[in-house]
Amino acid sequence: MEIFRTVQDMQNFATAAIRAGKKVALVPTMGFLHEGHLSLIDIAREHADLVVVSIFVNPTQFAPNEDLDKYPRDFQRDKDLCELRGAAAIFAPEASEMYAENQTTWVYEEKLSTKLCGKSRPIHFRGVCTVVSKLFNIVRPDVAVFGQKDAQQALIIRRMVRDLNFPIEIIVAPLVRDKNNLALSSRNKYLDENQQKDALVLSRSIFAAKEAILSVGIGEIPSICEVVKTEIAKFHGIVDYVECLDSETLEEPTEATKELLLAVAAKFGTTRLIDNILINLE
Ligand code: AMP
Repeated sequence: MEIFRTVQDMQNFATAAIRAGKKVALVPTMGFLHEGHLSLIDIAREHADLVVVSIFVNPTQFAPNEDLDKYPRDFQRDKDLCELRGAAAIFAPEASEMYAENQTTWVYEEKLSTKLCGKSRPIHFRGVCTVVSKLFNIVRPDVAVFGQKDAQQALIIRRMVRDLNFPIEIIVAPLVRDKNNLALSSRNKYLDENQQKDALVLSRSIFAAKEAILSVGIGEIPSICEVVKTEIAKFHGIVDYVECLDSETLEEPTEATKELLLAVAAKFGTTRLIDNILINLE
């Protein structure tokens, strides 16, 4: 497995792969890999000859008050896991390699980015769209795999790829949970034992809400979301949002809505966690 630290080296690999007629898949990550990330590598391997995993804690998607500096990192472990899962290369640049000090070009998505996490993290998706565009130009993949764990991010990337005509197939992989149904996240490492137990309220309450919506109908969504908020608060979660929206548009559901996205974000201590579930109405 190759490890590239510079844009030039990564681009040379990409050019050689294209010349050799190899199909390349990209799995963008911020590292500290867990089974959720590794499932993306497995899916990427099914769709391509070569899988490139990027490991980059992207500073432009963190606000100054967020956890950029303490974001967990363990490159050696990540490297071993990527190798075991059959990645062909890791792209792990320093921030200074990715961003010129006076970079003034950014990629925005203007609609979906204002919803859900975008309300409390107003610069987040600009950072995501910009870094993913850069990665697409550096790795030049045929396919890129993202996780349903970050449902809003996946929707925004799909929109960006459509709107900017990136010739890349986007695959969204299912959300992977631990045996207690906690959505796997690198940030789970921040949780102490009590918080780990408390955080199980997220999946428990959205699973119950899904059943409730399916049995009583979309008219009751506001009251069901209120119940979820109350449940989370009971377990010391500080709710950022609990929303149930059309999974395509992130607008309020209508009679035409085919699928709902029930999404939550809440803090346990200082750790902000997200979770979501899709609800098929057809
Ligand atoms: P991150 O390193 O958190 O930026 O995540 C990198 C990619 O892995 C994103 O596309 C995430 O949606 C995906 N991912 C993270 N956690 C999970 C999970 N529990 N299940 C599925 N995909 C995940």
